[in-house]
Amino acid sequence: MDRRIGRRNFLLGVGAAGVAASVPASHATAFGATAPGAENLKVSSVEMLQLTGKNGRKALYLKIGADAGLEGLYGPVDEIAAIMVDRIFKRRLIGQNPLSGEAYWDRMFRADRHSRGSHYIMGLSAVDNALWDLRGKFSQLPVYRLLGGSRDKVRAYASCLGFSQEPNALQAKAKELTKEGYRHQKWFVRSRGPKDGPEGVAKDVEVVRLLREAVGDGVDLMFDAFWQWDLNYALAWSRRAEKYNPRWIEEPFQSANLDAFIEFSRETSIPVATGEHFYGRWDVHKFLKNDAIMVVQADPEWCGGVSELIKICTLASVHGVNVIPHGHSLHAAMHVVASRPVEVCPLVEYLIQKMSNYYYFEKHAPQPVDGMIQLPDRPGFGIELDESKIKDTKVMTWT
Ligand SMILES: [Mg+2]
Repeated sequence: MDRRIGRRNFLLGVGAAGVAASVPASHATAFGATAPGAENLKVSSVEMLQLTGKNGRKALYLKIGADAGLEGLYGPVDEIAAIMVDRIFKRRLIGQNPLSGEAYWDRMFRADRHSRGSHYIMGLSAVDNALWDLRGKFSQLPVYRLLGGSRDKVRAYASCLGFSQEPNALQAKAKELTKEGYRHQKWFVRSRGPKDGPEGVAKDVEVVRLLREAVGDGVDLMFDAFWQWDLNYALAWSRRAEKYNPRWIEEPFQSANLDAFIEFSRETSIPVATGEHFYGRWDVHKFLKNDAIMVVQADPEWCGGVSELIKICTLASVHGVNVIPHGHSLHAAMHVVASRPVEVCPLVEYLIQKMSNYYYFEKHAPQPVDGMIQLPDRPGFGIELDESKIKDTKVMTWT
């Protein structure tokens, strides 16, 4: 079931006005003369908006409305997370103070015996991120500033999913990306595995050799096997790939297989990475206390939102481990990275092919220049939808 709303009404944003004496002066412009103070704010609406583009493209954005036209916006949201927001999180959010996101997160994490993973926590992540956007708009600060950060640019690594691995094309692309200013490139070695035996290992080592030859020693190279290997295959590959000095090898095994990560990390000098499928700080803790990885790749749209990712960063900092968030999406990840020390969060992932069209509906798609992404100076995450691209907006419900 869906309810159509006027696109114009939806895009009006924080126009209506009002401010109470307890609201900082900077809010007078944004919220006018009668808005309640922080302690009295209440969520008045939770809407999952399906945007349809003039080109037929669709995307889901979560909009959380509060008093005086204040709103939080976040997206695109995965459909399975959107369903969770609609069916579980919405009714527990209406009437709550939107500035109490930490309390809400904790309450919802305790509210369901299946809360500690998967789609439930993806839905909670969407709410958490939209509430951070709302907090940013209330404070008139970008989220990374609200989190205490001072870096207004973050370094991106080129994530090369989907590019040809034919030797000439591979080397040409790697050189091109280096010229564009990327000092770090991640390539995928996920099309072969144990079924391919020594020949598979040799081909996956050859990918490393070709790339090192193409970019020289001044560029970091990372490799992602996306669950396709076993321990023997990973060890055989790493013994031969070590001399090319990879920055990390990512997800050689399913992240459920903690023991394999522990054994592999003991045996190889190549830092091991995983975490895009971590849900909450407790998943991360299991890996860190066992010295199983050197790079945590928790995704703020899947692991519990900005609120959870900053806790994960603190935990990682205790262990001397990097947090380099998974980059299926960028807004939350780049604001958290900009807010933490560069020694903890040195990079964000930029999936070159995917990102070229992922933010179709937005006016300011994050885009690296010379390998760096500029943080917005707009409040919240700075997401602004481009009305000229939207043909239709529906409020979705799943009953
Ligand atoms: Mg990955």
